[in-house]
Amino acid sequence: MQPSLRKKITYGYLAVALLILAISMFAYAEFRLIEEKIYLGERVTTLFDTALEIRRFERNFFLHGQATDLVENRRYVSELDTLLTQDWPDMTLLGVQHNVAQLHAELQIYQTLISDYASKRQAHDFRITKVEDHIRTIGKHIVVVVTDMLNNERQLVGHSLAKLRNILLAAIIAVAICVLFIGFALSRRVVQPLTQLAHNVDTFSRGKRDSLPLPSNDREVVSIISAFNHMLKELEVRQKHLLRSEKLASLGTLLSGVAHELNNPLSNIWTSCQIMQEELSQADIHYQRELLTQIDEQCQRARHIVRSLLDFARDRQFNKESLALQPIIDQTLRFIRREVPANVTITAQIPADIHIYADKQRIQQVFLNLLMNAIDASGEQGEIQIISSKYNPEQKSAVDVFGHDCLVDQPAIDISITDTGQGIAADILPRIFDPFFTTKDVGKGMGLGLFIVYEIIEEHAGCITVTSNVAQGTSFHLRLPQPIHDEQDIATTANNSPTDMKI
Ligand code: ADP
Repeated sequence: MQPSLRKKITYGYLAVALLILAISMFAYAEFRLIEEKIYLGERVTTLFDTALEIRRFERNFFLHGQATDLVENRRYVSELDTLLTQDWPDMTLLGVQHNVAQLHAELQIYQTLISDYASKRQAHDFRITKVEDHIRTIGKHIVVVVTDMLNNERQLVGHSLAKLRNILLAAIIAVAICVLFIGFALSRRVVQPLTQLAHNVDTFSRGKRDSLPLPSNDREVVSIISAFNHMLKELEVRQKHLLRSEKLASLGTLLSGVAHELNNPLSNIWTSCQIMQEELSQADIHYQRELLTQIDEQCQRARHIVRSLLDFARDRQFNKESLALQPIIDQTLRFIRREVPANVTITAQIPADIHIYADKQRIQQVFLNLLMNAIDASGEQGEIQIISSKYNPEQKSAVDVFGHDCLVDQPAIDISITDTGQGIAADILPRIFDPFFTTKDVGKGMGLGLFIVYEIIEEHAGCITVTSNVAQGTSFHLRLPQPIHDEQDIATTANNSPTDMKI
């Protein structure tokens, strides 16, 4: 059977309720016992009063010899005897059985002696004084025994009350411990999974997870998590649809841009072909070769344009792997060598041991787009710098351009591409990653470069941000995840000094 939070809470309350019930029943039984002892105490007090009455009428009879005093004395003696007979079973509670037995015996003797005294007094027997002394001694003793019983009873009630007080104190401590223990157990079994759930949701909201793990097997938690994960899957599907429709929309715009772009190389090819046709017989072989080279270059350009369009349109599977950064940057720089004006220098400081976890083709697209923008911004002269270093979340610098939420709990790689060209004005800075945002002339830029860069970096669970100053230039900062096993590789890499590249 699946555990549930409701059951755990119910069991917790049930345990406390049972404990309180047991303590209450125990206390009730003790109260009943004390009540009985107090009731018995009242009867012992009656015994005591009766014994005193016996002594009072005994003294009166000795003084005045009146028959009424003798009658009263005898009445109280028989009353005491009856009381003792009635109370006999209950006396076990007070623990005074031996006193009762003794009293019975003494009352018998007392009764005999009183009768003896009465007959001797009537007969003016001189031995009367001896009997009187004897009666007084026994009478005193009866009062002493009853007083003992009374004291005994009071002591017992006192003990019972003290016992009850201790029981109540122990019960309060037991309930407190029990409540604390149950509270602790409930917090472990109920609050902890909920806290874990909140933590997981938080981690998820920062984009660190695809789905929420189960913090406990409780039915309620399981149903919340499965509903949540279902909702996440739905969201993912919708997001993909949205991206696709956005892509389709941008494809339309891209197509018109590509058509425009293709127009230039095609008209160049067409012009070169025209010239060659017209001057086929007269032109010298060098000129013809030049024209053919131009045609070749323009064909390459057209091919490149068409291929980028295809690349953008194709839904290629992501293939992330551990990649050394240095060769990728090297290769990208070779691609763009021909686009770099003579007075623009590009330097790269990438330590050889830096690896990223990325899709090679897409990450190359990122560097290509960023570098082409930097070249465009530099104009005829300037400097472009590519710097990379390891980011260690434990040694966070006070100034972190990414803020607090970028790959904060895993080792990552920081890469920056900085140019000294025309910077970006503050009012357009927030829009540069928007699709189709461009400040370039028609045919030169389509405003999709940074949009695609942003999308690719997001797909790599990395971050990108930009800092720019119109007078000094622009820096694009990237942070990409490091391959998980890379830390061992790094430790064993012998040569990890940065290598400077320059073109
Ligand atoms: P495109 O290059 O086609 O214009 P992007 O999305 O690559 O599209 O860039 C959008 C805009 O951002 C550019 O038009 C430019 O104004 C600005 N931008 C991008 N990179 C830089 C840079 N390194 N220096 C100055 N401005 C830049």
